[in-house]
Amino acid sequence: MEFIKAELKRLKNDGLYRQLRALETPQNKIVRIAGKEYLAFCSNNYLGLADDLRLKEAAARAIEKYGCGTGASRLVSGNMKIHQELEKKIAEFKKTDAAILFPTGYMANIGTISALVGPGDAVIIDKLNHASIIDGCRMSRAKILVYKHSDINSLETVLENAKSYAKRLIITDTIFSMDGDIAPLPEIVALAKKYNSMLMIDDAHATGLLGKNGRGALEHFDLENHIEIVMGTLSKAIGSIGGFVAGSKNLIDYLRNKARSFIYTTAPPPAACAASIRAIEIIESEPDRRQRLWENVRYAKDMLKKTGYDTMNSATQIIPVLIGVANTTVEKSNFLFHNGILIPAIRPPTVPKEQSRLRITLMSQHTKSDIDRLLSLL
Ligand SMILES: *Cc1c(COP(=O)(O)O)cnc(C)c1O
Repeated sequence: MEFIKAELKRLKNDGLYRQLRALETPQNKIVRIAGKEYLAFCSNNYLGLADDLRLKEAAARAIEKYGCGTGASRLVSGNMKIHQELEKKIAEFKKTDAAILFPTGYMANIGTISALVGPGDAVIIDKLNHASIIDGCRMSRAKILVYKHSDINSLETVLENAKSYAKRLIITDTIFSMDGDIAPLPEIVALAKKYNSMLMIDDAHATGLLGKNGRGALEHFDLENHIEIVMGTLSKAIGSIGGFVAGSKNLIDYLRNKARSFIYTTAPPPAACAASIRAIEIIESEPDRRQRLWENVRYAKDMLKKTGYDTMNSATQIIPVLIGVANTTVEKSNFLFHNGILIPAIRPPTVPKEQSRLRITLMSQHTKSDIDRLLSLL
């Protein structure tokens, strides 16, 4: 076990050692850690729903009705009506024929990718796709072909060279989780058609936010019915937990039979399902939450531009402030922390070497004066 000590020491020396901080409050704009309050700019709870009274009430009612645990996997005896109600709600929200629920987004990605492709096939992925996509690709044992980030020419070159594989599956994040930019989906859809390739999107950060009704990237680009496999999570704007894939009845039926992270795990808790259903209803009926968030994005972008910081190609609520060296990034994050602002340093391996950054995420609850306070400290 000596290697463990050595590796921990190396991580500390390189500024890559990570530690947990424990919140004493719900997930919201102000959180308390060790008795002290912080203004947080690092939650994916973009619309503030994680602590919404209506979600809590829905969850409590579901516990009364169904209990806490589900006792078995969905296919054995853990499947409850509420799972199916949620799947129906997701399909309606995403405007697809059907949807399948997984315990987390991570599990949705690994299960779906490894069910769709295998040895002899190719997965074609953006360089900056989320780790859960990469893990799914590795598990699948398909050939992994990487194209340059959001680069359509690079994608086409890869597709040209991938014609000999039995099946091709292109996968891209819609909003990239560390850069906050949006994938050029219309161009990717066109190439997927041209090269007879399946296309899967990971809409984790766009669900609830992009598009007029918050349906995600498909609505934003007017591409509904043009992408076969739409993955997302219930853990970000939706404020609960769970992952999903939305698509055709056949696709969903296939995943129920083939996705190992759906089959060999216990059914998700009823409380989380009820909270997700309520959250989707709120997202549909309260567009002002989304609008306030986008106003914050515009304001923060304008103000950041004046400071001269590099915010990369961010076009969304995820705004990286590029610092570079890991240790310097940690120092800045600690400085903010001592001044009551919570923004963790994002370091390798989450981002490439020399691209360590402070990753700001905005919520609809933030005000202009919150953003001003952050910027004056920066
Ligand atoms: C957060 C995230 C996931 C994983 O979702 P969880 O529900 O947190 O497991 C997958 N893909 C992307 C792009 C993400 O940002």
